[in-house]
Amino acid sequence: VAVEVVAQTGSTNADLLARAPQLTAPVLLVAEHQTAGRGRAGRSWLSEPGHSLTFSLAWRFAGGLRGLAGLPLAIGVALAETLGKLGQPVQLKWPNDVLKDGDKLAGILVETQVAADGAAWTIVGIGVNLVMPDALEDRIGRSAAAMPWLARMDRDELMAALLDGLAETLALFARDGFSAFVARWNVLHAWQGRPVVLLDRGEVQHEGLAAGVDDTGRLLLDTAAGRVTIVAGDVSLRTR
Ligand code: ATP
Repeated sequence: VAVEVVAQTGSTNADLLARAPQLTAPVLLVAEHQTAGRGRAGRSWLSEPGHSLTFSLAWRFAGGLRGLAGLPLAIGVALAETLGKLGQPVQLKWPNDVLKDGDKLAGILVETQVAADGAAWTIVGIGVNLVMPDALEDRIGRSAAAMPWLARMDRDELMAALLDGLAETLALFARDGFSAFVARWNVLHAWQGRPVVLLDRGEVQHEGLAAGVDDTGRLLLDTAAGRVTIVAGDVSLRTR
């Protein structure tokens, strides 16, 4: 994997997506600072210089888009396991946030682009909070978590550990799909068995007990009307 580091950019995901048609090998793009970080559905990922890790990894899937639905969740497993090993235990919130003590520590945004030969370039974008100043938390508008001891770690070692975990995960995912990650995801599930509501553009769509994910990464919800399976479109999960 070619590693590139830039002092500042708008969004590492946007940069790699724009370059995807010309890419021939995996690239890891690290930005010391991101000024227009992106979340799902046009939301933003906010950070301040020196207070977070923001990077994206471009990876090619020869088989195209088929079977990639669970990839963001598998990335969550890789990130959570690495952060857990280096720092403190963390949990996963469906579909793909990493929580520490119930607050968001890291975000994942996977975007894809199909190449001329039918392969898919997936751009895996990750933001991890190292330090969370009050002013940044105010801008985010909800409480957020950070891992200050990671900020004191050697940055190259930290990135190498994260990249190892991701590369291993991407290779395993390419071979076996999300089924290789279901059990690991469910062990890390922050809200297993807890009452949750599923919001679709702010409207409550389902209420029930969160029962983990199935082998394609869909959320299982036990509602009064029985079990429903939820596809990660633009829906949001909240505790009740
Ligand atoms: P939802 O929680 O509704 O499912 P999401 O978790 O999928 O949304 P993302 O699109 O992954 O949201 O991330 C964007 C959201 O994350 C923002 O709308 C904001 O609430 C929150 N956010 C932005 N920057 C940070 C940050 N540095 N740390 C923690 N949370 C952040």
